[in-house]
Amino acid sequence: MPELPEVEVIVRELREMCCHRRITAVEVLRDDVIRHPSASTFASTLEGSTWTGISRHGKFILFEGAETMVVHLGMTGHLRLLRPSSPVAPHTHVVIHLGADRLAFDDARRFGRMALGSQDSLVAVRALPQLGADALDPELTAEVFESLFRNRHRSVKASLLDQGIVAGLGNIYIDELSFRAGVRPSRTMSSLRKADRARLRSAMLEVLDEAIANRGSSIDDYRDVWNAKGKQQERLRVYGRGGQHCTVCQSILRKRTVAGRGTTYCSVCQK
Ligand SMILES: [Zn+2]
Repeated sequence: MPELPEVEVIVRELREMCCHRRITAVEVLRDDVIRHPSASTFASTLEGSTWTGISRHGKFILFEGAETMVVHLGMTGHLRLLRPSSPVAPHTHVVIHLGADRLAFDDARRFGRMALGSQDSLVAVRALPQLGADALDPELTAEVFESLFRNRHRSVKASLLDQGIVAGLGNIYIDELSFRAGVRPSRTMSSLRKADRARLRSAMLEVLDEAIANRGSSIDDYRDVWNAKGKQQERLRVYGRGGQHCTVCQSILRKRTVAGRGTTYCSVCQK
């Protein structure tokens, strides 16, 4: 599933290509991908309008115009920019025409979603969840991070997966930042020392920045808007490496289930 870095890479490209261009037509090929309003209202409201900005909150992409179009890629969703001669991908559900270019949303497993409205109204109709601070929000200072997590009696993994506390992290980068911080993902957040939680936050920022610089991780089928793979998957130190040697101490990395998710860690480097 795309996490914050993959979504950030997509947003930066979309911002270059899609802002301040008139939306000339909208085709909704599968109505149930549109969570709010109806597919026909979604299309007719967008047609003729323009986006003035494109931003991201956690894993949600926000196209800002008279109303906000919200996109979540789910497990297998892609937003693709198509040149005039390019065919649409299989499982394409929505095509937004920007003159001769097209922005297409495809999603084989259909956990992704699109919605249109004011952000408050989308929260009210549950098309957009109540999200915590974005993991890269400068206002998520060390003090704020500590106050959010010091009294959480759930595991590091479960606490950081909760998008209502901090938005943007998922399985890959939580395993990676926990390794970098030297903390086991199964530890209870409130049982850690304050310094451990501070290291989790520093590691979170490092891991996310590095992954964005490497254009994200193409683990399953993540691709950017031009259908190119990221490079971060080659640099992951624990995720997907259960049974292999730790890059730091050479012991065998373990894999177990934490918070319902496959979790890989080093029992020597992480306490
Ligand atoms: Zn190790």
